[in-house]
Amino acid sequence: MKNFHVAIIGGGVIGSSIAWELSKYKLDVVVFEMGSDVASGASKANSGVVHSGINSPPSSLKARYCVEGNKILQSLADNLGFPLKWIGKYVIAKNEEEIKELERLKKVGIENCVPGLKIKNGAEVTEPNISCFAALWVPTAGIVSPYKFTMAFAENAAENDVKFLLETKVTNLIKHKDCFILKTNKGEYQSLLVVNAAGLNCREIISMVEKPDFNVYPCRGEYLVLDKKHSSLINSMIYPVPPKELGVLGVHITPTIGGNILLGPSAEFIDDTENKKTTREMMKTLIIEGRKIIPAISDRAVINAYSGIRCKLASPEEGGWSDYRIEESKQVSGLISLLGIESPGLTGAPAIAKDVVRMISQSIELKFKDNFKFAKIKRKRFSEMSVKERSDFIKKDERWGRIVCRCEQITEKEVIDALSNPLGAKTLSSVKYRCRAGMGRCQGGFCTQHIIRIIKKQFNMDVKNIKLRSPDSNLFFGRTREVRNE
Ligand SMILES: Cc1cc2nc3c(=O)[nH]c(=O)nc-3n(C[C@H](O)[C@H](O)[C@H](O)COP(=O)(O)OP(=O)(O)OC[C@H]3O[C@@H](n4cnc5c(N)ncnc54)[C@H](O)[C@@H]3O)c2cc1C
Repeated sequence: MKNFHVAIIGGGVIGSSIAWELSKYKLDVVVFEMGSDVASGASKANSGVVHSGINSPPSSLKARYCVEGNKILQSLADNLGFPLKWIGKYVIAKNEEEIKELERLKKVGIENCVPGLKIKNGAEVTEPNISCFAALWVPTAGIVSPYKFTMAFAENAAENDVKFLLETKVTNLIKHKDCFILKTNKGEYQSLLVVNAAGLNCREIISMVEKPDFNVYPCRGEYLVLDKKHSSLINSMIYPVPPKELGVLGVHITPTIGGNILLGPSAEFIDDTENKKTTREMMKTLIIEGRKIIPAISDRAVINAYSGIRCKLASPEEGGWSDYRIEESKQVSGLISLLGIESPGLTGAPAIAKDVVRMISQSIELKFKDNFKFAKIKRKRFSEMSVKERSDFIKKDERWGRIVCRCEQITEKEVIDALSNPLGAKTLSSVKYRCRAGMGRCQGGFCTQHIIRIIKKQFNMDVKNIKLRSPDSNLFFGRTREVRNE
């Protein structure tokens, strides 16, 4: 049985950023992820906003990690190669009454040391499609691609010898005198310490060893994705003043790194942590809410919908807000749990990871590796190259000249590079989230068949084993008729 120093349960942004911080040290670290790739949970399905710290109460962990994470993000983007844009955000007041709320947010921001906050009157707001009474300008808010952000941590951690076991679900945890046994669907493993970064399943993991003293209240947020044709509607993020209840920020309009616009998220408490469906009713509501901010949004602009589930520790009756809990179990030493890591968890992840490593250093002596290496910075995408660059790349490798995804102009070489990831992830979604093939207007209508052919050839795989996104999402079950000349 392989023995690790640290076993991390969950390959979301929290587990992956902790794995990355630990990869700097001489340790054997493993990440168990039950999905077919990292970023299978909330870390894939959120707004991708780098928050500034105006929304969380001063002295809360949420505020502290958000502000610290925000500050270190640029240097991480430079070293790990994930895209980050500081586009700023407006929180808009629709009437005089709402200005009080802008003032409150500004005061919270100042207490949290958020720089550059300014309340502007409606005429000073530099967004042509927005009309408002006044707005709070937040220059230190930005955007990342949440899955690329998570993958950047995980892939560089894997390049620095952290082991990622995908499609491996931890089914039981047993504490022995000085180690844990982790039972999974793929065998047993042993580790000195365990980090519970299982997101919505954090309670389930704790209950394997002790009686949890909290509940998880899943709260679904649905989004609509607008076609790139509408990307000029806004330049920065536009938020309403936050609703008073549920501990959420309200339906906002956010540009994405990929050039689309997001509308959402809704906030709906649900019973089932797996219920990621999107609904017709919520789509209608989101359009109505979106038009309150930008009246010009058309139904026909919508090309996709998705949802993410918040891990809330407070019920709607309690108001939906609670702070993070990041703690070592008092009963079972060596089990560190991250509980209720809802927004701004994406922003705070790098700062949270540093703190968790500090906690780990209380139990294990940490020694820096001599051979730690940052990620190789990825080359430009084909769609962003000049004509001369394109032609030079095609001369070197003709696969640069074969367009697989017409909407996003993704080439065969880019699909193969996505499949060569150090985690060994090879679903259709793994390709989509790494190189954007399938994210355009036709949503994979054209490229899916080509990507499947490439996956089949690349890994010599039976098409029946090719999956959409998760272990049980096979794309094909058999042939409807025999093929004569294959
Ligand atoms: C609608 C929405 C909008 C948000 N917007 C923002 C935003 O704009 N900015 C921001 O900063 N934050 C935002 N957040 C918060 C942010 O997305 C989360 O804080 C963050 O993704 C949490 O990461 P995680 O790693 O804890 O959880 P997850 O990403 O859910 O990862 C947990 C992982 O554990 C795995 N797992 C679970 N159980 C097991 C098991 N037994 N064995 C193995 N693996 C297991 C799961 O498959 C999953 O991949 C938003 C969240 C939501 C839902």
